[in-house]
Amino acid sequence: MSGDLDPEGIGASRSAHDDGHGLGESTRALRAGLPEPVQFQPPLPGPVFTSHYHLAGDPTGPYTYGRDENPTWSLLERAIAELESPLEPAESLVFASGMAALSAVLFSQLRAGDTVVLPSDGYQALPLVREQLIAYGIEVRTAPTGGDAQRELLDGARLLWLETPSNPGLDVCDIRALATAARERGALVAVDNTLATPLGQRPLDLGADFSVAAATKGLTGHGDLLLGCVTSRDPELLGPVRRWRKIVGAIPGPMEAWLAHRSLATLELRHARQCANALALAEALSTRAEVSELRYPGLPGDPSYPVAARQMRRFGSVVSFSLDSRARAERFLAALRLVDEATSFGGVRSTAERRGRWGGDAVPEGFIRFSVGAEDPQDLVTDVLRALDASADA
Ligand SMILES: *Cc1c(COP(=O)(O)O)cnc(C)c1O
Repeated sequence: MSGDLDPEGIGASRSAHDDGHGLGESTRALRAGLPEPVQFQPPLPGPVFTSHYHLAGDPTGPYTYGRDENPTWSLLERAIAELESPLEPAESLVFASGMAALSAVLFSQLRAGDTVVLPSDGYQALPLVREQLIAYGIEVRTAPTGGDAQRELLDGARLLWLETPSNPGLDVCDIRALATAARERGALVAVDNTLATPLGQRPLDLGADFSVAAATKGLTGHGDLLLGCVTSRDPELLGPVRRWRKIVGAIPGPMEAWLAHRSLATLELRHARQCANALALAEALSTRAEVSELRYPGLPGDPSYPVAARQMRRFGSVVSFSLDSRARAERFLAALRLVDEATSFGGVRSTAERRGRWGGDAVPEGFIRFSVGAEDPQDLVTDVLRALDASADA
């Protein structure tokens, strides 16, 4: 139906007209990106499966070819922009994965001879990205997330890349302070907001130029798709990112985009429960002698807590800790009944893994990354404490 593809109808978002002040986060997440109501049409139009559009005459307009634009993306992009920046206009672009989004920012903004400052403790694939940047003649400097150590490397940099809380170490840096320092030196700032989600933290409000995320994780939360997004308030900065998406073709399928948008309706519900569960689990683990190096940014006493409490609205759904050996960690994971052993995080069903099995991250052999789901808190805590007990007998 051509009406479904009408750019004015589908592009005009109802909630974009709200000033943002009056809406609670659940309401905003429920309505984000929905089109104006159209009689006899669904509230969230279904995925638009097409490689091309009816396009007579001059090839202009919002929908020309499927690699450039899709109405299902448009609605989702509007929704994500509303969540990342409820009070000021922003634009989002969606990608095939978190890595596609992250690479789009780095490779579209940096040229040979530029310098970029990356975290030394960020996402597992960053070292691969780093190698590629160096191969293209870009200088890469790295420092840990904790203690705002990247600040010392900013002289002459073109881009500062932050990941906070960092994955998997859960260190936190001060986005506002680092963004101010970067801006003084003429550097752009991008924040990987995957772990926090826009309900946990709004990097653009804290001074970042780009908020980037793997929507694969908590943003969509069901572990059933890969998707990435880049959000900015500056259309000029976003232009090269859009061009990069077109060149590389790292685009999401319409089904993934639609599933993601559908999942946003429950974002606040999922996130509230998962963050509360994460705190309950962290508190329970903190009483156990066999648990060391427990980290959760929302736990008063955690090294990340003072900065996290200032800049985060919620502390996320990832908890990490160490058991004293690889064997003990493996016994613990095997004894869990309600928690699947799997990588990734942010999903409604709890998962955990021994991070050292991948190599790459600088973590002890008994290090567990625990992604807290939306189970009843008592069920989850009971299962984890029981598995800890069970893991004691070798
Ligand atoms: C998972 C993840 C990515 C990459 O996302 P994919 O969708 O797997 O490509 C990037 N950054 C962080 C912090 C992540 O956790």
